[in-house]
Amino acid sequence: MRPEVTLAELPLRPELVGEVPYGAPQLDVPVRLNVNENPYPPSPAIIAEMAHAVAAVAADIDRYPDREATALRQALADYLRHGLGVANIWAANGSNEVMTHLLGAFAGPGRRVLTFTPTYSMYPEYARNTHSEYVVVPRRDDYTLTAAEVLAAIAEHQPAVVIITTPNNPTGTTTPLSVIAEVLAGTEAIVIVDEAYQEFARDPEQTALTLLGEFGNLVVSRTMSKAFAFAGGRLGYLAANPAIVDACRIVRLPYHLSAQTQAVALVALAHAEEMLAKVDELRLTRDEMLVRLPQLGVEVIASDANFCLFGRFDDRHDVWQRLLDRGVLVRETGPAGFLRVSVGTPAETEAFYGALAEVLEEIR
Ligand SMILES: *Cc1c(COP(=O)(O)O)cnc(C)c1O
Repeated sequence: MRPEVTLAELPLRPELVGEVPYGAPQLDVPVRLNVNENPYPPSPAIIAEMAHAVAAVAADIDRYPDREATALRQALADYLRHGLGVANIWAANGSNEVMTHLLGAFAGPGRRVLTFTPTYSMYPEYARNTHSEYVVVPRRDDYTLTAAEVLAAIAEHQPAVVIITTPNNPTGTTTPLSVIAEVLAGTEAIVIVDEAYQEFARDPEQTALTLLGEFGNLVVSRTMSKAFAFAGGRLGYLAANPAIVDACRIVRLPYHLSAQTQAVALVALAHAEEMLAKVDELRLTRDEMLVRLPQLGVEVIASDANFCLFGRFDDRHDVWQRLLDRGVLVRETGPAGFLRVSVGTPAETEAFYGALAEVLEEIR
């Protein structure tokens, strides 16, 4: 083949023509507050245990891993509690793969996925990659949802899958359990409640996990990437009726979770308390941010997650760039005029306030 061949000359699927790989910029700057990671690495003792676990699976690396990831799913069930067992849990390489399994099984050609914007920017990618039609309905002005509006959107668009993100990314707003229960009672569509940030919520016990016994069409999506400080480990999971887990097992690639991933995630889960130790501090820093940002003269959306949406700026890209020039990386996402900042360590968060104060001084 000619080495200089371009994508335009290749028989790319028509719906992918003009598409570019998507993702937040990965820039090596001192203060990275753009992808909602927990900024605290594990302790040296846990790092050593993870290394030891990888060495142990290396001795068997000539063999395929446990295709069903049974031990890991049991550990995830034990972490979630709510009477869940292995049969209720599915796991994959990040929520992004779990969501792809769900849409592969329940959406796909000729079927719709409905969600409520502004919301997570990866959902349209999952829909596209599973050949599903992606339909969005705007949230209310305060970014909340009511059951009546969600059910009206379902009646209008007849989706196969509905995604409700709570706390929502990028707004940080929550959807009450009563709304989710009312939606579930009014539809037979698969309802995915994406609780990626649940551990940061003001009341983490207000979780859709409590509704699983009542609704067979409910899926609760979780991840170890955020509160669990395990973004690099790539582990997302769901809790649902066992039949939904079986559907995911049909569409997953064989041996999708490597032996190393399973082993390292098991170590993290065995030390759940320590991995989550900074969540309380991050929550307090988030609450402080909701006070500090207005003091600097910017608007902030009340958040239940480890990030805040702040604005409004006439030229948000200019503000983003000026912060970056000062070594602070935030995310250019969400409603017009807003930027999103993740909650960092106290030093990172102070650096952000300092840089923002300077930028505001410059542009005002
Ligand atoms: C970050 C995030 C996830 C997690 O994605 P992973 O693939 O598990 O890292 C899921 N849902 C939302 C809304 C998120 O913001």
